[in-house]
Amino acid sequence: MSKTFLEYIWLDGYQPTQELRSKVRIEDNFSGKLEDCPMWSFDGSSTLQASGGKSDCLLKPVAIFNDPERDNGFLVMTEVLNADGTPHESNHRAQIDDDGSYWFGFEQEYFLMDNQTDLPLGFPRGGFPGPQGQYYCSVGGRYTWGRDFVMEHLDLCLEAGLNVEGINQEVAPGQWEFQIFAKGAKEAGDQIWVGRYLLNRLTEKYGYYIDLHPKPVQGDWNGSGMHCNFSNEEMRTAGSKELFESICEAFRPVVEEHIAVYGAYNDLRLTGLHETQSIDKFSYGVSDRGASIRIPIYTVEHNWNGYLEDRRPASNADPYKVAGRIIKTVKSAKVV
Ligand code: ADP
Ligand code: MN
Ligand code: MN
Ligand code: MN
Ligand code: MN
Repeated sequence: MSKTFLEYIWLDGYQPTQELRSKVRIEDNFSGKLEDCPMWSFDGSSTLQASGGKSDCLLKPVAIFNDPERDNGFLVMTEVLNADGTPHESNHRAQIDDDGSYWFGFEQEYFLMDNQTDLPLGFPRGGFPGPQGQYYCSVGGRYTWGRDFVMEHLDLCLEAGLNVEGINQEVAPGQWEFQIFAKGAKEAGDQIWVGRYLLNRLTEKYGYYIDLHPKPVQGDWNGSGMHCNFSNEEMRTAGSKELFESICEAFRPVVEEHIAVYGAYNDLRLTGLHETQSIDKFSYGVSDRGASIRIPIYTVEHNWNGYLEDRRPASNADPYKVAGRIIKTVKSAKVV
């Protein structure tokens, strides 16, 4: 009889930022297929998802990936349900209203933190590294920290079967990014969360931790975002300047609704400096990295067939919430 490890992953009920939880179950003679992953349950009173008296919450498997660190293991992304089978209020994946035509590319930025100092890699105890400028995409021990870790994470993502597209060192010391692309809002969200899971699990081996706070270091240091690149069938194949402008305009009256689901403490990051627009302003423009929404030059050069980049989501945002809200707004757009 063969024994398989299934690592069930879910989002807890913590506010303002939900965190990852996971636990392992052993299955006999498992097929490797999602439909053969059983429903499971957990103690919701330990994750702010239920009271002690009625503590059972359910885990509904929704996506399966290889576990790159176990020969006979899988990572199973799940949705949290109430004991009666309805979606739990912390389950924002279940609320996504996708029509099947949406593609998403998330750029997940993060800081690699040293457990010993509680500082980003590259920050000396009691002081600061040299000013920003030469760290972004740099090579060499003078400006680069954490490359072994980052490349190992990239390997793990690929072995898991995530559609990770690349990595780069970011503007601040110890700050990195990975990009994941998927067709479908739920699929993209699943992959970002599993990518984050692998990132966090790998830190245990290195004596690091991940800080997804959008502004972990105050002052003249970049914050972390999770730019959301998105398109639907019409934007990709039947686009026009008018279509793209009408979509951008649809975002204008709902700035607050978007910011509400774009991550906690994002006001510290969206200041108008460091390649951001202020949190209380809205703007869009071709190639404009100081805008709320950038129209990539790719889109213009392809005769207005392409995608848009919402630059506002913070590194700690829930990709399910971000993608779900973007679809809602794009659907409301009217071409005038
Ligand atoms: P930058 O750092 O210049 O903003 P990146 O290369 O880091 O750009 O990220 C661009 C993202 O856009 C990638 O994740 C990519 O998958 C995504 N993307 C490209 N084309 C589309 C599209 N048609 N729909 C949605 N996302 C797209
Ligand atoms: Mn128990
Ligand atoms: Mn990028
Ligand atoms: Mn970036
Ligand atoms: Mn970007």
